[in-house]
Amino acid sequence: MPFALPNENSKPKSETEAKLAHITRHLDKNEKAMVRKAYLLAEDAHKFQKRLSGEPYIIHPLSVAEILSNLEMDCETICAALLHDVLEDTDITREYMDKEFGPTVTKLVDGVTKISEMKNQSRENRQAVNIRKMILATVDDARVIIIKLADKMHNMQTLSHQAEHKRERISREVLDIYAPLAGRLGMYGMKAQLEDFALSHLDSTAYQQIKEAIAEKKADREDRIKVTKSIIESKLRESKIRAKVLGRTKHFYSIYQKMKEQHKSIDEIYDLSGVRVLVDSIQDCYTTLGVIHTIWNPVPGRFKDYISLPKSNGYRSLHTGVIGTGGKYLEVQIRTQEMQNVAEYGIAAHWAYKEKEKNAKTIQDHFHLLQNIAQMQDEGADEKTFMEDLKTNLSVSEDVYVFTPKGEIIAMPMGSTVLDFAFRIHTEIGLSCTGGKIGNKPVSIRTALRSGDQVHIISSPHAKPNANWLRFLVTPQARSKLRSFLRKRDGDDEPAEVRTETAEKERKNDEVVKPKARPKREEDSSPHWEVEWEGQTGFETRFAHCCSPLPGDPIEGYLSKNHVVSVHKKGCPSLHTIADQEENSGRLIPLRWKGQTENYSAKIEITGSDRPLLFLDLVSGLTRAGANILGAEAHTTSIGEVRDRFNIEVDSKELLETILSDLSRIPGVLSVYHII
Ligand code: MN
Repeated sequence: MPFALPNENSKPKSETEAKLAHITRHLDKNEKAMVRKAYLLAEDAHKFQKRLSGEPYIIHPLSVAEILSNLEMDCETICAALLHDVLEDTDITREYMDKEFGPTVTKLVDGVTKISEMKNQSRENRQAVNIRKMILATVDDARVIIIKLADKMHNMQTLSHQAEHKRERISREVLDIYAPLAGRLGMYGMKAQLEDFALSHLDSTAYQQIKEAIAEKKADREDRIKVTKSIIESKLRESKIRAKVLGRTKHFYSIYQKMKEQHKSIDEIYDLSGVRVLVDSIQDCYTTLGVIHTIWNPVPGRFKDYISLPKSNGYRSLHTGVIGTGGKYLEVQIRTQEMQNVAEYGIAAHWAYKEKEKNAKTIQDHFHLLQNIAQMQDEGADEKTFMEDLKTNLSVSEDVYVFTPKGEIIAMPMGSTVLDFAFRIHTEIGLSCTGGKIGNKPVSIRTALRSGDQVHIISSPHAKPNANWLRFLVTPQARSKLRSFLRKRDGDDEPAEVRTETAEKERKNDEVVKPKARPKREEDSSPHWEVEWEGQTGFETRFAHCCSPLPGDPIEGYLSKNHVVSVHKKGCPSLHTIADQEENSGRLIPLRWKGQTENYSAKIEITGSDRPLLFLDLVSGLTRAGANILGAEAHTTSIGEVRDRFNIEVDSKELLETILSDLSRIPGVLSVYHII
């Protein structure tokens, strides 16, 4: 359905103009125009919606964009922020967004929408850790999380308009999921603000007490910091170090936690504040540390060197605790301005406009590592050093996390297929599985699952469970269920392993015989109007008039209530209009033309980074997907990449496509080509 952009006459008011100018102040001319376009679309799309405060809805996305603009995030992020609720709440489609704003913006908005859906599905704290892992595991662009955090931030700022029980639940969720997530990404500024907002709603008495106590001692504290500052500055001048010394106050929630943990009143908490020294270089950081330790005595056990051992989120700094002026404990942080940016903005610092080009790749790498670590780490493991994380990371095998249609999260071993998933849900579902849908895309039972996939199983009484399924089933549970079914059905005690071999031999013989029985030329000249569904033929079919499929076209079918299969071109809009309706779920079935099913051979070429075991992973990926490998070559190129070629045989072109996309998901793979 076409959507028109609002026309030029509906110009926003000057207040909006000022706001737009403000949030695009760091962008160039073309980017400013793009942001404006995103704004106009969002304003129009949300025009009939209001916030609980009674304000027009557009205030919300605009505020989210402003928060991100203050982090100097790039144009795509700002556009996605303006559009972040559009897919979920309005008629605008992905296709339209894609056309107008490009795939990156659409992907970002889509990611934010997915996280919102995830959140709505689980309210229990028990699941909080999982959700945090899920978010990290499914998002392949960290900007999605940054937008989501900004979204949360604005919602927290305006939370007082919500009913009390909602305020409490949302605040809990912020403490359980979003604030730790911000911490994990090194966005400590965002984390502190989210925590303080949440605390003000969850324990407003404590919040007020802390606020008052801090205000009361403000003059005291400022005097002390002033003295401390001037001492440090003069000593550093003597050592010829250029430094900026800043006083800093802990945020309310961290004071609150300390009071809780140590069972102390606020008066007994001694380190409400500290100082931070910003210097020019790493060398200066260590020199400064030495200088400070000569002025005041260090407190044993309080020195931490996050410069030589950065935290896994990239945080670097020196920390020390000393007995400062007046015999009072003083916490000192020493770092460069660059480290300070990372500490405040974390991963967001890397999308800061000026840094963009420089950092894009390293950061994405860093984020992937972070994702892996996030899956491994338990809550509260933030303090673990990078090396420890890495070690753990390498020794633990990974899971993929997928969703049921109802949004439940299920962890499956890496490499699990759609059929494994079907068996995981129920044996009967596994045994009657003929395919599936991931999102809205029909997939075969052999398709490997990827974290974040929402998997819908297609089952039918026509399913034919057979020993070939053992070739690609990964989970022991599914394999044993299938084996025991086959034993019962075939009514003998022959071990399933032997049966598999026999079945494979039979299959291979078939493959040799069939193509000969029907020469290729003949097949080309006289079309066979017969279609096959998971190896079955001979059912009643009807060829749809809406798209008039011809032999050779990719096709799919719709199984009507009286068991007639109507054949459509793959992706036919009228088919999907019907098949995508809730009451028709499961009626979409994968089809192929009979005669196109056997011995489809192909050459594929894969380039990848030269990592150990990559070749092995490719081979096992191919085998698991059901391809026969007829030949393989591996080359190392002069630039340290590998180029591997495989000659494979698969039963359909459709499967080949699945295989190509599965291979491209293997870590280290840079490109996968089908060579013609
Ligand atoms: Mn929102």
